[in-house]
Amino acid sequence: MIVMKFGGTSVQDSKAIDRVAQIVQGRLADRPVVVVSAMAKVTDSLLAMGRAAGNGDRKTALKMARALRERHYDTAGELLGTALFTEFHSGLGGDFEDLDELLRGIGAVGEITPRTYDAVAAFGEMLSSKIVAAAFSARGLPGTHVDSRQVLLTDSSYTKAVPQFDETNERLQRKLKPLLDAGQVPVMGGFIGSNRAAVTTTIGRGGSDFSAAIFGAGLDAERIEIWTDVDGMMTTDPRLCPDARRIKVISFDEAAELAYFGAKVLHPATVLPAIQKNIPVFILNSRKPSCEGTKITARAPHCQNIFKAIAAKKRITIVNVAAPRMLLAHGFLRAIFEAFDRHKVAVDVVSTSEVSVSLTVESNEAIPALAADLARLADVKYEGRKAIVCLVGENLRETPGVAARVFGELSDLKVRMISQGASEINLTFVVEEEDVPGVIRRLHASFFSELDAEVFA
Ligand code: ADP
Ligand code: ASP
Ligand code: MG
Repeated sequence: MIVMKFGGTSVQDSKAIDRVAQIVQGRLADRPVVVVSAMAKVTDSLLAMGRAAGNGDRKTALKMARALRERHYDTAGELLGTALFTEFHSGLGGDFEDLDELLRGIGAVGEITPRTYDAVAAFGEMLSSKIVAAAFSARGLPGTHVDSRQVLLTDSSYTKAVPQFDETNERLQRKLKPLLDAGQVPVMGGFIGSNRAAVTTTIGRGGSDFSAAIFGAGLDAERIEIWTDVDGMMTTDPRLCPDARRIKVISFDEAAELAYFGAKVLHPATVLPAIQKNIPVFILNSRKPSCEGTKITARAPHCQNIFKAIAAKKRITIVNVAAPRMLLAHGFLRAIFEAFDRHKVAVDVVSTSEVSVSLTVESNEAIPALAADLARLADVKYEGRKAIVCLVGENLRETPGVAARVFGELSDLKVRMISQGASEINLTFVVEEEDVPGVIRRLHASFFSELDAEVFA
């Protein structure tokens, strides 16, 4: 069997869902499980409704919910035709009543908690998966909607819940295998799950890719296909650099570094379940299904180019911690990392000297409290509006003089926190956020003007 995951733009309207049905039709012999995201921009708008209700603005929240209802009804109507839509309408109507009820409740309390955020956010995938399953049936495909909340068990860390693999895998075998054996095509929402008390959770923004990988690994899929709006994993974000080229094949390690440092095309956790079971992951374009896309696999062929791709991650804050009195004392780093742990703030890049440490974190509202905590240990300063730039390629390990070439290209810029991780396949540094487009274009022009035809399209 295979898993096919379709992202937000791939299910954004009836035309897109129609394309999805055709793509799945072509793969029926591979026994697909289909995973879908919310329709494009729906999760953002659900979170905005939740926020409005939490600020006591029920009117705005309910107005936005009405617009969302119309969009889903219009899409379902176009896909199903009048007769089928009438039948389907009441089920969808029940979900929208629930959403309104939830928003009214949040509005009444005037506060939104992470738990209610998840309850609101989950509507996107709940609705899209039902519509896609119904559209499949209307086109003669044996689609069956499966509520992923009854399959993906997570802990209770709302908004970034952690999947509980053993029990999820057991449920996949119990609930999905019989459907596949009966020739059905299960259609599930990505991104959503529930905890042991059956309370809805979500596994983090962009998490539908991760859901697909979890389902694929749990069902021993032959491959996991991530269908999106670009031709595959590219040498850099095509939105930042129109010269970006498709990477035909890339290793799990390289793809993971790129995803972690900003290549939004793949959620960073996606490769973990795939690595464990050695399942190849393909990135494919739902608007151009004939394009071969990118294959992510344990071993990529040898490549002439030093780098496979450049990624950038914006909205980064540098936290500088300096403690001259800690010169030669041990335990300084431990104390610093404990503070990050207490505030549940994840660190991306670290650079140290004997008495000072710089760390990068995603900009977030916990930073002032974290800084106040750290100030008990040392002098602390933090600076926002930074970006991490990351060049990735396995050849970096063996090639001398690469850093000189990279930083030579950027000699007029302020580059900070240069680091090469232990994996030795990435070169990472921090620049001002506004410098990102220029940095990417210059590095891309320098390192990707001639490409190895084995690896790049
Ligand atoms: P989906 O909704 O299908 O999950 P996303 O918007 O999450 O799609 O990811 C696809 C987007 O990722 C592309 O439109 C592209 O702008 C962006 N992207 C960033 N870096 C890369 C890269 N290296 N290769 C391809 N796409 C990239
Ligand atoms: N719909 C969710 C989001 O926008 C999950 C996903 O699309 O992968 O974050
Ligand atoms: Mg995505």
